[in-house]
Amino acid sequence: MEKYEFKTEVKQLLDLMVHSLYSHKEVFLRELISNASDAIDRARYESLTNSAILEDDGSWKIKIYADKEKGILTVSDNGIGMTKEEIIEALGTIAHSGTKEFIMALKSKDIKDNPELIGQFGVGFYSSFMVADKITVLSRKAGQKDKRGVKWESTGDGTFNIEEIDKPQKGTDVILHLKDEEKKYLNEWEIRSIVKRYSDFIEHPIVMEVEKEKESELEKGKKFKVKEEETLNSRKAIWLKDKSEITQEEYNEFYKHISHDFKDPLKVIHYKAEGTSEFTALLYIPSKAPFNILFKDFKVGPMLYVKRVQIMEHCEDLIMPYLRFIRGVVDSSDLPLNVSREILQNNRQVEIIKNNVTKKVLDTLEEMKNEEYEKYLNFYKEFGKILKEGLHYDFSRKEQIADLLLFNSTKSAEGKLRTLNDYVNSMKEDQKEIYYIHAQSLEEALMSPYLEAFKEKDYEVLIFSDEIDGFVLSGFEYKGKRLKSVTSGDIDIDAEKKEKKEKAKKEYGKLVELIKDRLKDNIKDVRFSGRLKDSPCCLVADEGDMDPQIEKMLKAMGQEVPQQKKILELNPEHPLFASLNELFEKDKEHPMLNEYIDLLYDQALILEGSKPKDPAKFTQTISKIMSEVIKK
Ligand code: ADP
Repeated sequence: MEKYEFKTEVKQLLDLMVHSLYSHKEVFLRELISNASDAIDRARYESLTNSAILEDDGSWKIKIYADKEKGILTVSDNGIGMTKEEIIEALGTIAHSGTKEFIMALKSKDIKDNPELIGQFGVGFYSSFMVADKITVLSRKAGQKDKRGVKWESTGDGTFNIEEIDKPQKGTDVILHLKDEEKKYLNEWEIRSIVKRYSDFIEHPIVMEVEKEKESELEKGKKFKVKEEETLNSRKAIWLKDKSEITQEEYNEFYKHISHDFKDPLKVIHYKAEGTSEFTALLYIPSKAPFNILFKDFKVGPMLYVKRVQIMEHCEDLIMPYLRFIRGVVDSSDLPLNVSREILQNNRQVEIIKNNVTKKVLDTLEEMKNEEYEKYLNFYKEFGKILKEGLHYDFSRKEQIADLLLFNSTKSAEGKLRTLNDYVNSMKEDQKEIYYIHAQSLEEALMSPYLEAFKEKDYEVLIFSDEIDGFVLSGFEYKGKRLKSVTSGDIDIDAEKKEKKEKAKKEYGKLVELIKDRLKDNIKDVRFSGRLKDSPCCLVADEGDMDPQIEKMLKAMGQEVPQQKKILELNPEHPLFASLNELFEKDKEHPMLNEYIDLLYDQALILEGSKPKDPAKFTQTISKIMSEVIKK
């Protein structure tokens, strides 16, 4: 017998499993059954090319034994099994890449009642330690000639033991020595109801020996008890049934089974494709984004079946990455059963299915937006950010995706979000472009000086509040109209203003030079602009420079961003410049000139959402000016 240490993360996980997840403990059985079913799927799949795997009677099944006397519950399968090396890795030394995040999530207090996390993070097996104080696993790899197997055993205390054994049949037995207070899981009805609730759709039979009363054939009226093997699950491939035969309840349960989600899905998409490709798809849009959807190890894609045989649990070739939240099943009649991962990647049939599924999902979203708007809002809140990636990655469908986007805008005051189409339809006659501003909220945007000229012209401005918006939408063209940031340097929306701008440039040329010189360490240039109405000045990024929002985001991501100097734009209509110029003309060396210029720059910083360069000096100057004005 050899003794091994669990990996640190596994230890932490076990500790938390035992101590924090008190509700829904029964999911441990679902996890064991699901592992057993996966093991059978793999064995069956490999048996297509390796007949040595079909050694026994060939009927795949999962068996549950409940031994009340010994307090032992066993889940047994005749699937692929594990070698010694594999079992050491799988059940002890490998921590899945999401484990750290999972542990963090478990530690946060509202997570206790989120058992769906167990499945999402692939820590299913360990959940059995919620109900067992010792677990023994016996396993023998399928396709092996001898009976050599391996025994794994642990009390979940930080170590596990490994021993070589003989095992008569291929596959795996997971033997739970139940805690005294968890003995209820040995009751037949308890097991039945858990299987029915969580595992009814498992394709392989889940069987159990149950006691039945029978009437004696010899002596009428005399009853006796017999043990009989009974299949507990209905095994229906729900996606192959006719839509009219499936209740919403059944759809929901199947979803929960495949997604490990405890909430009902938001939308069910069930259809059969005929023609160039024959397949059935049962797809789901979850109502809530799974915890780990942004992690690298998030498994993408629906399950792939070929003529009812599971080929893969997650087939990412069936779906565009920006629809990776979709869960479900695709069952194809055209693909060969022994299709490999490599073949899938360049397969024409798969490509056809992917296109078809993508179209169907986008069409469904469009329909939802038009007919079930509230539902669509829910979807958009959870997955809108991911969907937007499609603008960048799916050139051929970018119009359709763009039509699914929703924005706050300066015209969405009553709370209703706007689409690009709404925007274009209510554009002013002389307006040529679609304008947007980056801001966290409508309120924040409305305070921005960058909007002054737009307000005056009554041009609508969209509010980008997702970080990804700037990336996927800058330079985007919708119905021939370019999307443009209100902070970009080359905004000129008013011809009249243009004239005033030119005039100011001539009149105040010398003053501008002075400002430029005074602020040369902080800014790139000073110029008059037509974007302001009430504010005297603002800071803008130069054309070709990085959008300030993107700059902020990159900094937040820890990337080095070279310091970019901005342009100080002045409002030619603001009376301040006439006064300032007057002072300047009178006395080019006036001591207040520099202080005023510094104040101007500080104001621009404040308007941009930054702090004045030297807050103490800023307030001192302001107070000085105030007291002088009051004295007069
Ligand atoms: P997951 O199933 O999400 O990968 P688990 O902790 O439940 O996570 O299982 C870890 C690994 O142990 C599985 O990926 C699989 O390789 C192996 N395993 C678990 N149960 C079985 C089984 N019944 N037969 C074969 N392998 C199994």
